[in-house]
Amino acid sequence: MENLVIEPSKITTIEIKDSAEKFPVRRVYCIGRNYADHVIEMGNDPKEDPIFFQKNPNNVDTSGEFPYPPESKDVHHELELVVALKSGGTKISEKDAYNHIYGFAVGLDMTRRDLQAIAKKGGKPWEVGKAFERSAPMGVISKIETTGNMDSGKISLKVNGETKQDGDLNQIIWKIPRMISHLSTFYDIAAGDIIMTGTPAGVGPVKKGDKLVGSIDGLQSLEVTVI
Ligand code: MN
Repeated sequence: MENLVIEPSKITTIEIKDSAEKFPVRRVYCIGRNYADHVIEMGNDPKEDPIFFQKNPNNVDTSGEFPYPPESKDVHHELELVVALKSGGTKISEKDAYNHIYGFAVGLDMTRRDLQAIAKKGGKPWEVGKAFERSAPMGVISKIETTGNMDSGKISLKVNGETKQDGDLNQIIWKIPRMISHLSTFYDIAAGDIIMTGTPAGVGPVKKGDKLVGSIDGLQSLEVTVI
């Protein structure tokens, strides 16, 4: 054991369905603009390629509560399918991509939309709008052996019982194998990496007290209260 001058921070983990084991998070990759109807609602061109960014591993939160973050008056929900990797590499082929998947979960890419808009306008990084404390509420991971490939199925978000986001995984523009292959050309992807795969249309603001329920066919729902 190395002698460390300070106590290292704890590894973020995600629960696994029907298991006492947990999934340790290494990196959080996110894809933006991956459902055409959401690209259009944000005023962008669906013919352009999706974009990639990252959140911090310790932005992942499994507490079921989302504290409204500081310095924003327009925080949006983005409901997303999350892919969890059990292995990685570089230059992974699309054909080989599914062999690296451990399982899937329901996640939220919470976004300080006002700060993201300011960044976009100035041609600046999005980080302040995306990678903030507890900005990635996360549900339980189901193993791929039980879920299948998750290339179709209903994805929907209710806020206080009212449906706000409603789509199908088959609307995803860059499919899961392409995302994994693409990321592995730019990065050494590895076991513990998770990928947030983009959001369907219907994103919108949350306020304190809101109850969010995210559902994807075949996965355990994610319930989050904004505090
Ligand atoms: Mn997103």
